[in-house]
Amino acid sequence: MNNMMLINGKWIGPTGTDSDSTVTNPATEEEFEKIPQADGETISKAVEAANIAFKKWSGLSYTERGNYLKKAASIIYDRKIEIGRLITMEMGKPIAEAIGEVEKAAKILLYYAEEGERVYGRIIADQSRSFQSHVIYYPVGPVAAIIPWNYPIELLTWKTGGALTAGCTMVIKPASITPLSASAFCRCLTDAGIPDGVINLVYGRGSVLGKYLISDKRIKKVAFTGSTEVGKKIIEQCASNMTKYSAELGGHCPLIVGETADLEKAASDATRRSFRNMGQICIAINRIYVHRSIHDKFTAKLKSKAESLIIGDSLKTNGVNLGPMSDKNGLEKIIKQIEDAVEKGATVITGGNKPDGANKGFFFKPTILTNVNHEMLIMKEESFGPIVGVMPFDTAEEAVKLANDTNYGLAAYIQSNDYYEIEYLIENLSAGNVAVNNPDAGVMNAPYGGWGDSGNGYEHGPEGLLGYLKIKQIRKKICK
Ligand code: NAP
Ligand code: MG
Repeated sequence: MNNMMLINGKWIGPTGTDSDSTVTNPATEEEFEKIPQADGETISKAVEAANIAFKKWSGLSYTERGNYLKKAASIIYDRKIEIGRLITMEMGKPIAEAIGEVEKAAKILLYYAEEGERVYGRIIADQSRSFQSHVIYYPVGPVAAIIPWNYPIELLTWKTGGALTAGCTMVIKPASITPLSASAFCRCLTDAGIPDGVINLVYGRGSVLGKYLISDKRIKKVAFTGSTEVGKKIIEQCASNMTKYSAELGGHCPLIVGETADLEKAASDATRRSFRNMGQICIAINRIYVHRSIHDKFTAKLKSKAESLIIGDSLKTNGVNLGPMSDKNGLEKIIKQIEDAVEKGATVITGGNKPDGANKGFFFKPTILTNVNHEMLIMKEESFGPIVGVMPFDTAEEAVKLANDTNYGLAAYIQSNDYYEIEYLIENLSAGNVAVNNPDAGVMNAPYGGWGDSGNGYEHGPEGLLGYLKIKQIRKKICK
């Protein structure tokens, strides 16, 4: 039931032929479900359904659309355990975090259901008293939403909340690793009574079917979250039809720990943001720059906290902090980064290998490297795994230079109790999101977007909603 695509209100299951693909549990390496794959014709049908449904859906009021979202949020909340379980089976995060992700999805829909009421437009005075400009927002049209696997429901919901509230319809393409949770999510929306064609769900390899979706002229916006490499390709494809896009891409995020930082808190926050979800978070901390005077103390605390994390299959063991990585390629990538760093002189102070006895599953120990430098892959290439490099600095200027030595600019973290140092760092760090003395750079009602290679466009907050709207400016003569 959760292995189906959705086109124009109809659910389409596997074909029972070789064209079906499989879903693997990364904790056991077992293939446990088959899913159908869309071809160009199927994609076209999904786009057509979204295009036809757009007229009616965009014609509803914000309140009417909001009511559907509120109902869907309540159904999602009721099914949080079922959907959470699917997330864990597909991509491995601990079940408690998966359920938390689904709860958050329900809250995001509720947030946008209300935020729709606050799309006001504007009236602008003219240079002449006889004229006025009115600014009115319209939904852009059918949206293609292309989603990664690391937060498969949360990242899908950001797009769904913004797009549906604005009056757009959707064709959703989840990552091939996480199709089932996306299907269960879409079923909550259809069970909430969302009209046929408003949301459609297609499966298949992005590298094969992406072009059909993106180059279709009926698609008016591509909302993409994923790697910078794929994001750049998608933006190029959008250019030919002048299709609007948002691109939330990769990161390589620094944490600066100043001399005055609360070391216990800095180490706890760093542990959470470096290793949570096995480091498979775009805003994960990848590089830590610590004032030389506290480098050894901080590193010892970080090591002890990393070693206290419980690794395992959360569907079999209670209290698990870290599941497996979501796929084998990711695991191979971090092993290569560690080998590269060690070859160039780094020291692995903890981790660097699989936990004892983990013969099956893509498990790996949280890994900390010291004696690192910017020649090493780990300090410049997105790891998307549970590894972090720690390096000393002497002055705040030097810390900024090191932190900004990257083309990415998604998030940066500061731990300090020196007011002027904090202000200096906020001002000079090149990142779309800066978190001070806390590990959570993104929040539901504030804009979230990357600088540089980390993307273009915003999600979260009113800015996330504006991304699904286009403006009409009307200059009116208002008196003779
Ligand atoms: P990815 O390889 O770029 O894939 C993301 C999505 O794009 C998947 O649905 C994928 O489908 C699809 N895709 C792949 N090639 C495509 C193509 N040529 N045309 C159209 N679609 C294509 O990224 P990922 O490995 O799933 O996720 C990890 C990346 O996402 C990391 O770089 C991470 O930093 C980034 N991320 C960014 C944010 C943010 O908000 N900035 C949040 C989370 C993750 P298949 O699965 O079928 O390949
Ligand atoms: Mg990928």
